[in-house]
Amino acid sequence: MSFASFALDQRLQARVQQLGYQQPTAVQQQCIPLVLQGRDLLAAAQTGTGKTAAFVLPLLHLLLHQAKAVNFLQARALVLTPTRELAQQVFDSLQSYGEGLMLKSAVFYGGVSIRPQYDAAARGLDVLVATPGRLLDHLHQGTIRLDELQYLVLDEADRMLDMGFLPDIQRILKRLPANRQTLFFSATFSKAVKALAATLLNNPEQIEVARANSTADNVEQLVYQVDSQRKRELLSYLIGSRQWTQVLVFCRTRDGAERLCKQLRLDGLEAGAIHGDKSQGARLKALADFKSNKLNVLVATDVAARGLDIEQLPVVVNYDLPQDAEDYVHRIGRTGRAGLSGLALTLLTQDDMPMLRSIEKLTRQVLQPQVLPGYEHNASLNHRSTKPDQEHSGKKLPSRNRQLSKEKAKLRAQALGKK
Ligand code: AMP
Repeated sequence: MSFASFALDQRLQARVQQLGYQQPTAVQQQCIPLVLQGRDLLAAAQTGTGKTAAFVLPLLHLLLHQAKAVNFLQARALVLTPTRELAQQVFDSLQSYGEGLMLKSAVFYGGVSIRPQYDAAARGLDVLVATPGRLLDHLHQGTIRLDELQYLVLDEADRMLDMGFLPDIQRILKRLPANRQTLFFSATFSKAVKALAATLLNNPEQIEVARANSTADNVEQLVYQVDSQRKRELLSYLIGSRQWTQVLVFCRTRDGAERLCKQLRLDGLEAGAIHGDKSQGARLKALADFKSNKLNVLVATDVAARGLDIEQLPVVVNYDLPQDAEDYVHRIGRTGRAGLSGLALTLLTQDDMPMLRSIEKLTRQVLQPQVLPGYEHNASLNHRSTKPDQEHSGKKLPSRNRQLSKEKAKLRAQALGKK
């Protein structure tokens, strides 16, 4: 099947070709014709399946082929996303697929100045991408109206509910006309997600591209057992010795992510962090630096990393296990994209065993923990003189260890090809 078999506008076909897409992905094959026919959709698709183009391409086509121009302060299409990062990413895709089409689009999320958003909305928008909170601010202030909306897309609906956005979504829905086309995307389908879908969709077509909760075959999954106070040391060692140049590391909490990032920097690694306590500017910068390889390590919380698409990401590390087994699937789905091979490494401590079992049950596989030589249980007691809690709290090491750590940092920097 090729893109030419869809009744998509020639300019969109040309753009897709320019981007080097040979053929539509499974979700695109199913979604594009249905959206073009005006159907509502209930789609089970995860990030990495090409779902953004699956709704953006036909949406752009529909917007291009309607004579009706957009009115001041109105939006014709709205894409709601749970996180700022995902909003920005969808907006970037929209601009890329819609290059040269003269459609007006904008992205609204919090954490950045609202002024430029007023200006964008004043002229009216063909497509608005937004997170629920900031969109509600605009709706309350009357700086955008949605009563002429024709298309609504909910992206990662499950995550929006996880993040407690249901009341916000319901407030937004009250402002929308009933007569519209709605596309609903979610990676998982809990009762709450299905209930929300039922209130939003009108006789929807259902689409499922990959079994939810399955992990990709091309991602190698390793589990290393380690004492909790030596996790950071093991991670630094692995990054240096295996010469990983682009590693996404997941931590459970914002504080944990921040602390780990600082410790990795002390180890001489180029590390950055994205989590909810960082300003939007800092998060975007860290992500851009990571994508352009200025940073080798990006430490993230689940929420901040949700939906991120980093091309050809080779390694994902579960520094902490997630709170929810489903997040394991989302996390490791960041690697092994587009058929490339990837590695997902989990650092497992004694306390993590129940969660490992839950993950095994969910993903229907056995994950056999391994122990690396030198990192056996309690090996640290013979291995070094630092007290575990000193190490863990990021306090400075005693001088001999500091010297050793400097040398290790130098070696790692060399291994990573830096002067
Ligand atoms: P998404 O699931 O929307 O986050 O997309 C994942 C990645 O796949 C993005 O980097 C897209 O640029 C890329 N992509 C989307 N559609 C195609 C396609 N038909 N062929 C190749 N790459 C694609």
